[in-house]
Amino acid sequence: MSSSPSPSLAIGLTGGIGSGKTTVTDQFKEHGIVIIDTDAIAHALTAPSGQAIPAIRQTFGDAAIAENGAMNRAWMRELVFTDSNAKKQLEQILHPLIRQECEQQTATANSPYVIFAVPLLVESGNWRQRVQRIAVVDCSEETQIARVMKRNQLRREQVEAIMRAQATRAQRLAAADDIIDNETDLERVRTQVDALHLRYLQLAHEARIAAHS
Ligand code: ATP
Repeated sequence: MSSSPSPSLAIGLTGGIGSGKTTVTDQFKEHGIVIIDTDAIAHALTAPSGQAIPAIRQTFGDAAIAENGAMNRAWMRELVFTDSNAKKQLEQILHPLIRQECEQQTATANSPYVIFAVPLLVESGNWRQRVQRIAVVDCSEETQIARVMKRNQLRREQVEAIMRAQATRAQRLAAADDIIDNETDLERVRTQVDALHLRYLQLAHEARIAAHS
């Protein structure tokens, strides 16, 4: 029932595994900001009856679809890990659909700005052109490893293998307009999120004025 205009500013938020993206986006949500989660979108597209399922079946065959009608994630993970062409084909199916859904969610978002939460923002394509700013949630690699080992009951080597498949900390920081340091306690994160929220509100306001002048 809101008559608010659609958002005038888009922020891309990223960070390595376990850096604290969800922790941070939860705090932005408390300010009423709409978070558009590209992982959740990809998951929905490849769930039973998901929009991407017919193209995945057509491209990769029945083996790519599990009994419940969802994409067979384990099978696909294995395939794209060893076959870069298959990885490209899967991306060609998913990326336009993710993009379309992002646009739809943005158009109906009733907050002054939106945040796209994109774990592989630095690794994947053209996000730089689609957002006005990139915010990176950052902590040391040791802290990432400790958090993910604890949360997912994984061994250090398993976490390190996932991290090797992602951009490096330096690559992410090089892409950042804004850095949220999540090395220590949550209160420090909150202080940074509160300050960034005020800045983004100001930028959204300026963008709205510029669009109308
Ligand atoms: P993923 O990349 O796996 O989706 P993420 O970047 O979204 O992870 P979170 O899930 O927010 O990261 O955080 C990873 C884990 O670390 C969680 O268990 C979370 O509760 C914990 N955590 C995050 N920030 C802090 C912090 N400042 N202090 C202590 N624990 C934290």
